[in-house]
Amino acid sequence: MDRRVIGVETEFGITHTGGTHRGLPPEEVARYLFRPVLRWGRSSNVFIPNASRLYLDVGSHPEYATAECDDLLDLIASDRAGELIMHDLAQRAEAAMTEDGFDGSVYLLKNNVDSQGNSYGSHENYLIPRTTHFRRLSTILLPFLVTRQIMVGAGRLVPATDETPAHYAFSQRADHMWEGISSATTRSRPIINTRDEPHSDAAVHRRLHVIVGDSNMSETTSLLRYGATDLVLRMVESGIPVGDFELENPIGAIRHISHDITGQASVKIRHGGEQTAVDIQARLLDRARRFVRENGAHHDRVEQIFELWERTLQAVASGEHAPIERDIDWAIKKRLLIDVAERGGLPMGHPKLEQLDMAYHDVHPTRGVFNLLAARGRASTQLEPERIQRAIVDPPATTRAALRGRFLSTARAMGSEHTVDWVHHKLVDRPLDALMLKDPLSAEDPRVDTLLGRLGERVATLREQSLEERRAQELPLALSERYKLGHPQELAEPPLI
Ligand code: ATP
Ligand code: MG
Ligand code: MG
Repeated sequence: MDRRVIGVETEFGITHTGGTHRGLPPEEVARYLFRPVLRWGRSSNVFIPNASRLYLDVGSHPEYATAECDDLLDLIASDRAGELIMHDLAQRAEAAMTEDGFDGSVYLLKNNVDSQGNSYGSHENYLIPRTTHFRRLSTILLPFLVTRQIMVGAGRLVPATDETPAHYAFSQRADHMWEGISSATTRSRPIINTRDEPHSDAAVHRRLHVIVGDSNMSETTSLLRYGATDLVLRMVESGIPVGDFELENPIGAIRHISHDITGQASVKIRHGGEQTAVDIQARLLDRARRFVRENGAHHDRVEQIFELWERTLQAVASGEHAPIERDIDWAIKKRLLIDVAERGGLPMGHPKLEQLDMAYHDVHPTRGVFNLLAARGRASTQLEPERIQRAIVDPPATTRAALRGRFLSTARAMGSEHTVDWVHHKLVDRPLDALMLKDPLSAEDPRVDTLLGRLGERVATLREQSLEERRAQELPLALSERYKLGHPQELAEPPLI
């Protein structure tokens, strides 16, 4: 498969603090948060014109699922756009709450564990051929996913318990996974979910649903996460021998690895022997490099991904983390916590440090600690802010998302009632013309033009309008100046750190 569709779903944590009252409970805040969404789409489960999905399930973790992307930077841009959309909603919620007499601040956190220890996810979706041998896939992919946390984990300050002192772990999610592979997501939380909902032609494709990842703040870490996973999938799909590191106990292993920041924790291989996460990843990297030498690179970031992959493994293996302290989420955050702890003479489990761990994931562009570090040049980025801005409004151009975006924007601008999901597109008063777009890789389909053409002449004029005008018409969610991410230099001197 030359091109692969990837999408990421992010569940956010919410808190409300400060003010004259006690903070409102998260369910209440979530209701405020989704008020404009409800007004806009008459549902708390909507597809927005950038072709992504924004919704609130039962419970209080709002979710943003990126549109289908076949380019890693499009994917990261769409994911980052989701942070800004959530931020805008948070600001509106805060204002509405204040109006109702509940002053205070709303925090939207892109992390995976709240202060009570509840966990919420960051799910990856990879389009794979239906012919992929599932047993082969799982014997290679599971050990990769269990060990990749040493590269792409978001890091977590684990509070002290009766048995263990406070310490820093690679991953947020590792302690919350209960099974290797299964078809249930919530009850048993598997690393790979096998529920078969391909959102495409089931005869041709599957959608691989990976539940195990931490939410990443760093664009660089994200690039490594999706890029390396895609490369491993390519090796699986090609049928080449990749090596035998099937784990005896994947769930035991994922926790064991997460809690040993030295990277020396070794795990049992089913067919004998023990290896560390660094060993397993180093062999996969080696194999992937050979694979690309023999087959060619399929996009222009492959070498960058290999370089990051190698540098991160070296840093973990040597215990010398400085070379990745701008690029890898867990290492960026660990550096910050150590600096602040040393400056304030704080012990590792101090509540202030726990708070700082949370604040790292605050999506607020000028308050969130990751964003402040990026603004100060202490965390690397991969995207121009303008590209993220555009991704708030525009769908990715090269996948089915482009068609959905056009359909949504046009139908909305024309005032034509419509319903969509990942595959279906329907104008309510033309039910017989409903379209199924089963190929997620295809950005063109004359049927969409025909259907939209029936809406009348205004479609033509709409296309000639400027982006600004279109924004104002189509996207109440993205109207605000607040969407400006703020170029690093434009930000005021950040407080706190
Ligand atoms: P839920 O989270 O409600 O259980 P779900 O797992 O189907 O449902 P959604 O939140 O709707 O997930 O998100 C689906 C994700 O899959 C999106 O990020 C989307 O871009 C991506 N996606 C859609 N079609 C495909 C496909 N054919 N292959 C891979 N990814 C896809
Ligand atoms: Mg989802
Ligand atoms: Mg999902």
